[in-house]
Amino acid sequence: MTEVNLDIIAKRYSSVRARIETARTKTSRCDAVNLLAVSKKQPLEKIIALYKLGQRDFGESYVQEALQKIDLLKDYSIVWHFIGPLQTNKTRAVAENFQWVHSVDRFKIAQRLSAQRPESLPPLNICLQVNINNEAQKSGFAPHELAMEAVRISNLPNLVVRGLMAIPEHTDDIARQRVNFRKLADLNQAVSTSLNVQLDTLSMGMSGDLESAVLEGATIVRIGTDLFGAREY
Ligand SMILES: *Cc1c(COP(=O)(O)O)cnc(C)c1O
Repeated sequence: MTEVNLDIIAKRYSSVRARIETARTKTSRCDAVNLLAVSKKQPLEKIIALYKLGQRDFGESYVQEALQKIDLLKDYSIVWHFIGPLQTNKTRAVAENFQWVHSVDRFKIAQRLSAQRPESLPPLNICLQVNINNEAQKSGFAPHELAMEAVRISNLPNLVVRGLMAIPEHTDDIARQRVNFRKLADLNQAVSTSLNVQLDTLSMGMSGDLESAVLEGATIVRIGTDLFGAREY
């Protein structure tokens, strides 16, 4: 049993929410910024602690680990988001157990998620992951292929394309962070035009760059370390 200091979790939770709010009030936007608590490699006790404080959306990156947690927490009304790399042999488990997938990075994955989504469940919410800085080690669609791929994927029956997700290059330079996030926001507009629907989701911003992401229009920030503390590998 992991010892959890509830005071520390509560302070981290209010501090992250205050950072989001402070950034949001520096913009003219009036839409919400949703906090996704990234619980990969974090103990159940901390998830439950955050749940009791009111957090409902949790993000996981590793399928096996996530399935165990989802089963153990099945009595809680948690909205589970899959945000990690997805191999074809794991799509069924993800289609059956999550409400969101942020990391759809190729057509074949989308096709399988749609085919494997149980009829008894509402359509799966997905974001298309974009490799915004063209980094060799990162997955995601290249910006130039995005509009065409989004059109193909939006025709699949059991998915709803909600928007875009990216993990930009790591940099502490605020101006660069903002340029990268602005690129994703611009692409979201371009894809919305191609699809003839306004995409409502920009999943961007992590512990180190959440303010920049909110300033550029993030609607979901994905926060792990600054909420839970360091991960337990
Ligand atoms: C781990 C992870 C995060 C959270 O990162 P932190 O720096 O711990 O806040 C966000 N998004 C994705 C895709 C991740 O894999």
